Parts: sequence; C-alpha cells; structure tokens
Amino acid sequence: MEKDITGMDIYYYNVCIKKLWYYSKSISMEHGNEDVSIGKMLDSDSYKNEYKNIRINNTINIDFIKSKREIHEIKKSNSIENAFIWQVKYYIYYLRGNGVEVNKGVIDYPLLKKKIDVFLEKTDYERIENMITRINFIKSSPVPCQVEKMKICGKCAYYDLCFI
Ligand code: SF4
Repeated sequence: MEKDITGMDIYYYNVCIKKLWYYSKSISMEHGNEDVSIGKMLDSDSYKNEYKNIRINNTINIDFIKSKREIHEIKKSNSIENAFIWQVKYYIYYLRGNGVEVNKGVIDYPLLKKKIDVFLEKTDYERIENMITRINFIKSSPVPCQVEKMKICGKCAYYDLCFI
C-alpha cells in the first residue's frame, strides 16, 4: 500500500487532476476562498460533542468517529459528492490496511440536514489501487496536465491560474 497518498489526494483526484497537481506542488490559492472558509468554519462549529479531527500518519484526517467503528466526514454541500465518497472509501481502505476494522463511513451535510452512508465494497479495492497509481504519476509530473474547462471551474480557487 502507498502510504504517502493522502485522503486529500484521493479527493482532488476525483474533483480535478489539475487541482491535484497544484495541491501536490503546494500551490495554494485557497486562503481567501469563501467556500473553503465556510468549510473550515463548519468543521469547527459542527458536532461539538464528538471527538474530532483525528489525523493518522499525516495521511488521513477523519472529522470525527462514532461508536460502532463509524467514521464521519463533514461537508458543506453535496455538489461534488462522488469525490467525497471516494475520499471516505479511501479512509476505510487505509484504516483496514493498517489493521483497523471500520464498518462504514458517513458523509454529514449539516447545512442540508442530510447524511449518506459510504461502504467500501470488494470491487472498490482495485479502483482505489488504480487511483493510487494514477495519482503517483500525476504528482511526479513536472507540469500540470491539460484539462478542459468544467462546470466546477467557476467556483475553483485555481480558476485564475488555469484560465486567465
Ligand atoms: S479551475 Fe478547473 S481545471 Fe483549474 S484546477 Fe480548478 S477545477 Fe481544475
């Protein structure tokens, strides 16, 4: 298992591979981004009674853990839910790979008053291993890959870097 692949790598890979490359080179444009600030505020203001922000090996950062081996990830909106789902699946994959049995993940959307369950299926292992191979390739590239403009670009912190 590649231990240097983080949950954020998996998340960015499933949002945009160019964003993953920027992130891997520590090129950050997100300090003044309103969406990111709201996300951070939500993280600190929500679920105050839970044991929160559990960082493991500087690789995964779980928002909070419930009983029955349930890990939770808090998100503001479900607009890029597919990327959130793979991030949480990777958390389960990583924990199981390190001998920690986790039953399921949950993505919580406090602003939407909604949550979804996430399970790591047998077929997901191969997909995650393929993602890890691709992520390592993208991160080792000296230049970012070319990506067509997408719907999400308008709200992306890297927009100016990509298109202006
Ligand atoms: S602006 Fe679009 S292409 Fe550029 S990093 Fe963001 S999501 Fe990716």
